[in-house]
Amino acid sequence: SSGINFGKYDNIPVKVTGENVPAPIKAFSEANLRGIISENVTKSGYKVPTPIQKVSIPIISAGRDMMACAQTGSGKTAAFLLPILSYILEENIGMEIGKPLAVIMSPTRELAIQIYNEARKFSFTSYLKIAIVYGGTSVKHQNDSITKGCHVLIATPGRLLDFVNRTFITFTNTRFVVLDEADRMLDMGFADSMRQMMTHITMRPEHQTLMFSATFPEEIQRMAGEFLKDYVFVTIGVVGG
Ligand code: ADP
Ligand code: MG
Repeated sequence: SSGINFGKYDNIPVKVTGENVPAPIKAFSEANLRGIISENVTKSGYKVPTPIQKVSIPIISAGRDMMACAQTGSGKTAAFLLPILSYILEENIGMEIGKPLAVIMSPTRELAIQIYNEARKFSFTSYLKIAIVYGGTSVKHQNDSITKGCHVLIATPGRLLDFVNRTFITFTNTRFVVLDEADRMLDMGFADSMRQMMTHITMRPEHQTLMFSATFPEEIQRMAGEFLKDYVFVTIGVVGG
């Protein structure tokens, strides 16, 4: 069941700043998603994109970095998953063990699992492999899922860095980095982990970084300035610092 109350979005203020920002879409049919992904969107019961989806899907598809502030429950997961999954299928990029094409960092195991489930739902019947790693459980079991190979990796910060330091994971093929719920990761003390991961990522020049946050405190603004290049800044609704 979807928790989206579209009525409450009717008059929501949307602010987009940046150079040459692609126009928002009005319908999923304008999103240029791969057939399989589109079918799964329909099967999920998604009829109309939410405001954050309308604005960010074309921005992400255009290859731009983005900082997006939008409240919980506004549909941020599909906003980043749909263009990323679609891109990987479209480009038919080869997958190598331990070298994910997309890495999504999420503050908690519960949120990571939610993203994982959405990613599985949207990529259903495609060849895409989605993996998840989080702390508090055996490294061995989760390493198995990585040694089988994955296109998309969803991870909590501590365990992700653990795997990177053990060289189970390298970012040499990584095209997409998503920092989801960035403000919450800060509150949980993951600022160093985020910076460390971005240091590993930026050793490779060709990647696209997307940051999502419900609020926009100074430290997040600073991180956006550090991590993002020529980025589009999106706020949906009234966002507190
Ligand atoms: P956020 O990450 O912004 O907190 P989620 O991505 O978790 O929000 O979405 C909240 C809920 O809304 C989820 O149950 C999701 O499946 C549903 N949802 C997202 N986008 C749509 C849409 N376009 N139509 C219907 N339901 C949607
Ligand atoms: Mg979310």
